[in-house]
Amino acid sequence: MNSIKDISFEQKKVLIRVDFNVPINDKDQVTDNSRIKSSIPTIKHVLDQGGSCILASHLGRPKGVDPQFSLKKIIPELEHLLNLKVKFISDFFESKDKHQVLDLKKGEVLLLENLRFNPEETAADEAFAKRLSTLADIYINDAFGTTHREHASTVTVAKFFEIKCAGLLLQREIDSLQKLLKNPKSPVTAIIGGAKVSSKLSVIVNMLNVVDNLIIGGGMAYTFIKNNGGSIGDSIFEKDCLNDCTKIIEQARNKGVNIYLPTDVIASNEFSDSSLKKEINIFEIPEGWQGLDIGTQTRKEFEKIIFSSKTILWNGPMGVFEMSSFEHGTKEVAIAVGKATAQGAFSLVGGGDSVAAIKKFKLEQSVSCISTGGGAMLESLEGKVLPGIKALS
Ligand code: AMP
Repeated sequence: MNSIKDISFEQKKVLIRVDFNVPINDKDQVTDNSRIKSSIPTIKHVLDQGGSCILASHLGRPKGVDPQFSLKKIIPELEHLLNLKVKFISDFFESKDKHQVLDLKKGEVLLLENLRFNPEETAADEAFAKRLSTLADIYINDAFGTTHREHASTVTVAKFFEIKCAGLLLQREIDSLQKLLKNPKSPVTAIIGGAKVSSKLSVIVNMLNVVDNLIIGGGMAYTFIKNNGGSIGDSIFEKDCLNDCTKIIEQARNKGVNIYLPTDVIASNEFSDSSLKKEINIFEIPEGWQGLDIGTQTRKEFEKIIFSSKTILWNGPMGVFEMSSFEHGTKEVAIAVGKATAQGAFSLVGGGDSVAAIKKFKLEQSVSCISTGGGAMLESLEGKVLPGIKALS
């Protein structure tokens, strides 16, 4: 794969697939600009090297043209972050709008309307991708969050460009995943949490090929505990996954992976912040009670494993961190990952709610890398080659 640093952008028009799928409120304001922010270094790099940028993204899941999902809404935020005027076109193949592309000068930025206004985008349509490719000389994909999707702008378009590469954000994501998946520094620990075993089964199975230690917390732990003969009361539980738990434990044993499950929990008499709570053995949760966080003993045990690790993956919270009564286990794990990182470990956080948790605790700066891709990150951890990345080679 080409490196962005080796490409000359002088006088070149560059089509950059960015991820501007950001939350927007009813006053048309961007409420979380992190995705736009993270695309700025690549845009600036192209501009600094004498090129011009044609930015392409999707926003939401419109069915055809729908002003509610217009990317026009993000222009003020983009202009603010770039400190530049941004041009915008909606009908990028029509002659009047195409003119704006032809006239685009070195140092200028142009944003295309939501790609998903065209059904051809999600259908990975060849003709649409080819027409898109005629707008520019070089293609950059910087939208890690969409690289698991086989769409026209993420995969098909790449074959019509001789010069193509990953943007700085995508390259950072690829490098972080490599650090974890290819020859990581051991001991390697994966901390997997979240609500359900079923949604992370393939991740867990693949991680057994990579890690020395697997810490399982959050709601998914209760299916393992039940499978091990524990009484879990009303805790979240997936009957259909009992066999999978047995297989995972067996495979871990065969591969020499240590599995760590919680030993105590904060149990609650209802799914609410203002409920009655008690800290008890995870094998002895009474009927009418449910485990909503890991207990203090477990936090200490998990912390010890985390501190002894040189490479750490964290995916999924240890409890219902959205409620302040049940956030402590997740917070202490986040702090421990940060401390291990400060002592030289490499830590990658991503694939869903652990990112939301680490942001809630304002600990983003304490880890090595926070992935910007939910589904894309999970699929990478499952061992899949993402089509959007493959298309760049
Ligand atoms: P996931 O998207 O699979 O990572 O799951 C994240 C969700 O799991 C969060 O919304 C948590 O509130 C939830 N969760 C974590 N632990 C528990 C638990 N013990 N019981 C119920 N839900 C949980």
